[in-house]
Amino acid sequence: MTTVKEIETYLFSRAPKEYALDWDNVGLLAGCSSRGVQKVMVALDVTEDVVEEADRWGADLIVAHHPVIFQGVKSVTERTSTGRILTQLLECGVAAICMHTNLDIAPGGVNDMLAGALGLEATVPLGADGCGRVGMLPEETALEPFLSRVYDALHCTGLRFVDAGKPVRRVAVGGGACWDYHGDAVEKDCDTFVTSDLKYHDFLEAKALGVNVIDAGHFPTEDVVCAQLMCWLAEGFPELKIKKSETHREVFSYFKK
Ligand SMILES: [Zn+2]
Repeated sequence: MTTVKEIETYLFSRAPKEYALDWDNVGLLAGCSSRGVQKVMVALDVTEDVVEEADRWGADLIVAHHPVIFQGVKSVTERTSTGRILTQLLECGVAAICMHTNLDIAPGGVNDMLAGALGLEATVPLGADGCGRVGMLPEETALEPFLSRVYDALHCTGLRFVDAGKPVRRVAVGGGACWDYHGDAVEKDCDTFVTSDLKYHDFLEAKALGVNVIDAGHFPTEDVVCAQLMCWLAEGFPELKIKKSETHREVFSYFKK
C-alpha cells in the first residue's frame, strides 16, 4: 500500500522542498510516515473542522497548503487551537502533509493556478524568490469587467480594490498575502496587482503608485491550488481515493446593506 512517506516524497518532486522560504515549515508535520494511505483529503488549511471531516470520511492523510505547525510548539493541549488540531490528528490517526511556499513558487503551484484562473498568458515569476506571477491578458479590458472576472473565477464573496484609472492588461498576481511584492509589480510595469490581506495604508500606497490593486481575499487567491494538488495526487497514485474538503471555505463574510 502507498505510504505517507511515498506521498510526501512525490509531492516534493512536484513542489521541491528547496523552494520553501527560510522561515517556512513544509512536508509531513503530523502523523506516521510509514502509515498506509487509501484516502486523502485536500484542503487549504488543517482546521478542526477539516480534521473532523477527514476522520468522518475515513481519510488517512490530509494534504494542505498552510502548515499546521509554523513555529516551535511548547505544549500540545486543548488550550491552543494548534494543540487541539494536533491532538485531534494524532488521536484519529490522520497524518498531515503541508506544501506551503514551495507550492507558491513551484511551476503549476498556487501562483500559476491563480494566473491561469484569471486568464493570464506568458507568465513569468513576480518576485526574485520566484513567488507570484506576471502575465498578460489576451486583450486590454476595463477594470470593472476584470473585477467581475476575478470575483467569478475565484468564487469570491467580495472584493476590495483601488482603481488607479488604468485599463487592465499586464497583471501581477500573488496568492495569499503578497503586498510585499508590490515594488516588483511596479518595476515590471504592471497596471494591476491581484493579491490579498492589504491594510489601509497599503491601499493608500497603491493609489499613490498608480496601480490598480485588487484584494481578492487570502482563501480565494490560494484555494485554486487544491485542484492542482488533487490532479498531481491522482497522477502519481491512481489507486488513491482523493477528495477536497467540503467544509473549508472563506472564513469571514462581508456585511452588505
Ligand atoms: Zn496563504
